[in-house]
Amino acid sequence: MNNGLILVVNTGSSSLKFSLFRTGGDVLQQDVRGQIDGVGSQPRLMVKDHAGSTLVERDFADTEVREIKDAIALVGTWLRDQFEGESLLAVGHRVVHGGTEFSRPVRVDAPVFNALEKLIPLAPLHQPHNLAAIRAVRETQPEMPQVACFDTAFHRSHPQLADIYALPWEYYETGIRRYGFHGLSYEYIAAALPQTAPEIANGRVIVAHLGSGASLCALRDGKSQDSTMGFSPLDGIPMGTRPGGIDPGVLLYLAGQRGMSSAALEKLLYKDSGLLGLSGLSNDMRMLLENHAPRAQLAVDYFVHRIAKEIGSLAAVLGGVDGLVFTAGIGENSAVIRARIVGACAWLGMTLAADANQNSEPCITTADSMVSAWVVPTNEELMIANHTHALITRIQQAKTDTGGSAP
Ligand code: ADP
Repeated sequence: MNNGLILVVNTGSSSLKFSLFRTGGDVLQQDVRGQIDGVGSQPRLMVKDHAGSTLVERDFADTEVREIKDAIALVGTWLRDQFEGESLLAVGHRVVHGGTEFSRPVRVDAPVFNALEKLIPLAPLHQPHNLAAIRAVRETQPEMPQVACFDTAFHRSHPQLADIYALPWEYYETGIRRYGFHGLSYEYIAAALPQTAPEIANGRVIVAHLGSGASLCALRDGKSQDSTMGFSPLDGIPMGTRPGGIDPGVLLYLAGQRGMSSAALEKLLYKDSGLLGLSGLSNDMRMLLENHAPRAQLAVDYFVHRIAKEIGSLAAVLGGVDGLVFTAGIGENSAVIRARIVGACAWLGMTLAADANQNSEPCITTADSMVSAWVVPTNEELMIANHTHALITRIQQAKTDTGGSAP
């Protein structure tokens, strides 16, 4: 395959993040990364180079970037100007839901796109935006290879016990399952462990992806065995604005006795709860850690308490733990939260190395700690770029082998 560029796209309801990777070397090299925020309200384009220096910071009128397809067009124009003469080989997309059908990345053709549209009801807040970006590229550049990489795919190795709810069986058969999310992050970590933490890479590892969204995943030999998120990205540990696990009876009560509509419940669960709801102040962990208000402290205490509880539960699933890995915004940057979680795991045989933790070194437990703890920065964009590059290279190879007609 010729050298060129791979564009990675990650869309939200009003934002589009993108990263550009260069092929040609032994490993893909990240070039620029950027985002358009405030789509439809106060659009703003920001682009940084690989060293983090700002290349562009520009506001647009709301009429110029009304929806995701305008954002894609804007990125396309900027990239064409900036990388004139270089060829874009493919676009890789983060797609939140692959259902039961997609357990690995897939090139998006018309049937695949239709299948992904059918999954919208399973992830109505995310999937439509992911698909809007794919559709926008198809409309302007129909020949451009596009690859969908799924947040759910890595968890398809769950044993069936981690995949079910104790509902009547027909519910399972019609898709009410524990899909799990943050799979691209966990896959990246599983792939990084043999270099970063070889002594635990093939063992029993709990990965804590602690960002705005947060979950834990139990790995055995680099494969997902269980995770705290289930049917939706609501379950498990508390997050910036989501509550984590909640007694379903609360929701029945709110709907039945207080007349809350499903839209109101959705807002409560996705936007108003978690660290924000408990503190009444912010969904941002940095702000809560700096704030001495009792409810800011309570929100942080609850976050740590629930994570420690879920670590115990996943340790039971794995039959013991060899290592705990912290990643994403809070996991990579907050020595305080890591120290508190490791402290709560002392009963598992985990002993913090305070200086190493303060410096965010890869290993943050003492040499004689029975269970080790690690900080491993995640890179979901690189995971998507690698998948995209590998898939289009395979397709190209198959075409060459069959004299032009790809299977
Ligand atoms: P997203 O899911 O949006 O990608 P991130 O992985 O960027 O989220 O994580 C965002 C979270 O990380 C926020 O709660 C933010 O406050 C937290 N965070 C980032 N840096 C720090 C830090 N130094 N200390 C504590 N929390 C931090």
